[in-house]
Amino acid sequence: MASAYAGERRQFDRTIGSNQAIAHMLADMATEVEAGRALTMMAAEKLAAGEDALREITMAKLFTSETYVKVASQGMQIMGAYGYSMEYDMQRHYRDCRSATIAAGSSQMQRNLIARLMGHVVP
Ligand SMILES: Cc1cc2nc3c(=O)[nH]c(=O)nc-3n(C[C@H](O)[C@H](O)[C@H](O)COP(=O)(O)OP(=O)(O)OC[C@H]3O[C@@H](n4cnc5c(N)ncnc54)[C@H](O)[C@@H]3O)c2cc1C
Repeated sequence: MASAYAGERRQFDRTIGSNQAIAHMLADMATEVEAGRALTMMAAEKLAAGEDALREITMAKLFTSETYVKVASQGMQIMGAYGYSMEYDMQRHYRDCRSATIAAGSSQMQRNLIARLMGHVVP
């Protein structure tokens, strides 16, 4: 959504996506989303193979939910006032993403679990 908008929106006689500050943000966002997708697929493949996937599932939940918060925030920034407007879905992602790091085990709980699986005693 942010990428499409950055390719259309023109300011100062060029698309806002042709500004390196915006283009690099979009590149980082796409890279982090793909990394989350790969982590999720790795967990799914282990689970489908009947293996213990708790570590991968926990890492995927932590990383993808925190990435969702990050890219929704950056997405809103790139879309400017339209990102904040109810006419566009970005404001919904900006709100929805906050539930992702809380529901089904908060990020703190995911980190506790990962640390425990690494052998660290976290109460
Ligand atoms: C949109 C949404 C949907 C939900 N759906 C469901 C559902 O379908 N079923 C269901 O059972 N529940 C559901 N929940 C509840 C959800 O599981 C809880 O909100 C979540 O487990 C956190 O519990 P809490 O809200 O009581 O926060 P608290 O336990 O009060 O924690 C508040 C904050 O302190 C942090 N914290 C707490 N203890 C520690 C610690 N030891 N170390 C470090 N940090 C800590 C937490 O991570 C959190 O950031 C949903 C929540 C949301 C937002």
